[in-house]
Amino acid sequence: MSVIKTPVTRAAFDEVILPIYAPAQFVPVKGKGSRVWDQQGKEYIDFAGGIAVMALGHCHPVLVDTLQKQSEQLWHLSNIFTNEPALRLAKKLTAATFADRAFFANSGAEANEAAFKLARYYTTTTISPYKTKIIAFHHAFHGRTFFTVTVGGQPKYSDGFGPKPADIVHVPFNDLAAVKAVMDDHTCAIVVEPIQGEGGVMPATEEFLTGLRQLCDQHQALLIFDEVQTGMGRTGKLFAYQHSTVTPDILTSAKALGGGFPISAMLTREDIARVMTPGTHGTTYGGNPLACAVAEASLDIINNPQLLEGVAQRHQWFVAALEAINQRYHLFTAIRGKGLLIGAQLTPKYAGLLRDIIQAAAEQGLLLLSAGSDVLRFTPSLIIDEQDIEQGMAKLEQAITTVIG
Ligand SMILES: *Cc1c(COP(=O)(O)O)cnc(C)c1O
Repeated sequence: MSVIKTPVTRAAFDEVILPIYAPAQFVPVKGKGSRVWDQQGKEYIDFAGGIAVMALGHCHPVLVDTLQKQSEQLWHLSNIFTNEPALRLAKKLTAATFADRAFFANSGAEANEAAFKLARYYTTTTISPYKTKIIAFHHAFHGRTFFTVTVGGQPKYSDGFGPKPADIVHVPFNDLAAVKAVMDDHTCAIVVEPIQGEGGVMPATEEFLTGLRQLCDQHQALLIFDEVQTGMGRTGKLFAYQHSTVTPDILTSAKALGGGFPISAMLTREDIARVMTPGTHGTTYGGNPLACAVAEASLDIINNPQLLEGVAQRHQWFVAALEAINQRYHLFTAIRGKGLLIGAQLTPKYAGLLRDIIQAAAEQGLLLLSAGSDVLRFTPSLIIDEQDIEQGMAKLEQAITTVIG
């Protein structure tokens, strides 16, 4: 039976979608590995990876196969019943990390929402009802629910929606003295991204993370790592905290966790998890068998020393190519990041051209991202081919020449 589809174009976006995004003028219809095709059949190399989501590229055969098999088995039950994929995924995630317990949800914001609620519940029920202060950082991003967007350090995203959740303070990132100045026994938690993603690909220093750990220990506060963007192999370790000597008390993962299928997780230790009881938190979809099956298959592929070494190798290729471009055009002041979370900061002279460069790149057939107001961000597939990197960089260079002349 053939289904007649009504033709649909980019113009429909401006008519029927809530006007909160400004998507590109073309409509992608197919992806394979690190390549994407639009409605006109034009091919793009993908350096954006669905914003650090497509860790294994588009339509990875193992994930497609897993999704197909699970789709004929069981899609959804709700948490009135448990299911095998969720149990297997939780066992593997806890075995691979410091954590003993997992909570599954559907997005990064929901994983962080759960983390902040757990932290508040833990400190107020076990230590003091006044222990509610959450310390977070300028330019941080933790999602768009009202609690998470308020914890995030960008008032422009949290203003305009009425009274905000209270007792949240923001201080400069990588500034331990600023944290010390607001840290006290009423502090419930510090939440930090090991590398600020949306904020401009800004790595936390090892001294900063060590200092946060010490302050949390001194004041019986919890240290929360938001690894929604840095997790699942993105930095060359399964989670970014594994590069450092610091271990968080709560960790959140999303984006690459399902390789494109929506799923997120909050991970924590048993002594913290045990304050929660049936009813203190929940979700209808979280831990759904389809999502967990795909995430398990994805984790099995990513949590492998060879794949993770490949991420470090690809980092070298990206940085070398960006440095070569910079020698010719002098448009970056810094090339930062770890693994395949890389930011190239434009000089003040070129910062205003960020949008133009991204648009010119798309015209050349390259999908690129920004971060903050002046950073080009690269979050490709963790298994992108060397040849795709070379071709993508050639397109980036062409885009740059068309924009800066
Ligand atoms: C993307 C992101 C989020 C939000 O995830 P959603 O799935 O969009 O809710 C939270 N924290 C960080 C660090 C992110 O990069």
